[in-house]
Amino acid sequence: EQPILEVRNLQKHFNVANGGVLKAVDNLNFSVGRGETFGLVGESGCGKSTAGRTIIRLYEATGGEVLFNGENIHQLGGRKLRDFRRQMQMVFQDPYASLNPRMTVGNIIAEGVDIHGLYSGAKRKERVFELLDAVGLNSEHASRFPHEFSGGQRQRIGIARALAIEPQFIIADEPISALDVSVQAQVVNLFKKLQKEHGLTYLFIAHDLAMVKHISDRIGVMYLGKLVEVTTSEELYAKPLHPYTQSLLSAIPIPDPEIERTRERIILEGEIPSPLNPPSGCPFRTRCPKAMPECAAAMPEFKEVEPNHYVACHLY
Ligand code: SF4
Ligand code: MG
Repeated sequence: EQPILEVRNLQKHFNVANGGVLKAVDNLNFSVGRGETFGLVGESGCGKSTAGRTIIRLYEATGGEVLFNGENIHQLGGRKLRDFRRQMQMVFQDPYASLNPRMTVGNIIAEGVDIHGLYSGAKRKERVFELLDAVGLNSEHASRFPHEFSGGQRQRIGIARALAIEPQFIIADEPISALDVSVQAQVVNLFKKLQKEHGLTYLFIAHDLAMVKHISDRIGVMYLGKLVEVTTSEELYAKPLHPYTQSLLSAIPIPDPEIERTRERIILEGEIPSPLNPPSGCPFRTRCPKAMPECAAAMPEFKEVEPNHYVACHLY
């Protein structure tokens, strides 16, 4: 079966002052199957949000392709572009900044319905109530304003807005990072419930591997604008191959004290290099505990080293 999303050599470079080029997203390759959740993980500044915004075409790509249901979205125009805009929606990180404070919750949720002219009058109102119910809010909330809600409730409103026009695909850009730990699990569970009910496919962006473990079928790890490892969630946790992934995993505490005591922590030296001036060869080499002389000379190729397990590292 054709994947719903194929990202091929995707590139988003920005020209900056003094003739510099910021390679925010550099040659990403991955695909997402229908109904799957793909987790995209990396430290802040690694390019994961830029990747999400380029995939949904909030940004124009500077190279490569994004195929959605087999069509290159950066070549769509007119009706086909409008159709694509209906099929892919985004949930943003900051539930405080992403909702217009002067609009009622009902009008926020119905924004896409209005833009695409889907329903009006009583049908529109019914649809808003249905969506509020789907995300665990109620119909009385429709006439209220965003400031009357908590962070978790606002994120539910953002999710209802994304769902309103029945998309196939949702990009969630760190949707729980700004929320209290106590409500994070509830919002993740809501995402899971909605996925089941609506057959949704997710690209779930996070800075923390622990956060995406429970929701993702497959995970991609990014470092300095590049994917360094992609595989299934189980495989990534059981057998991480890239030294960067290994260090991220070693930082997650394990609830079993027996394992926790004997386990080796990998502490990374140094800071993430500036994406304006990345190291030669492997971008991770300045912090990699396993770096070898050849790592400075050549960029490791991103390749399938075991079935369904991709990694960019000279060790393999
Ligand atoms: Fe480390 Fe070299 Fe592998 Fe890069 S290519 S991750 S520096 S071992
Ligand atoms: Mg971000």
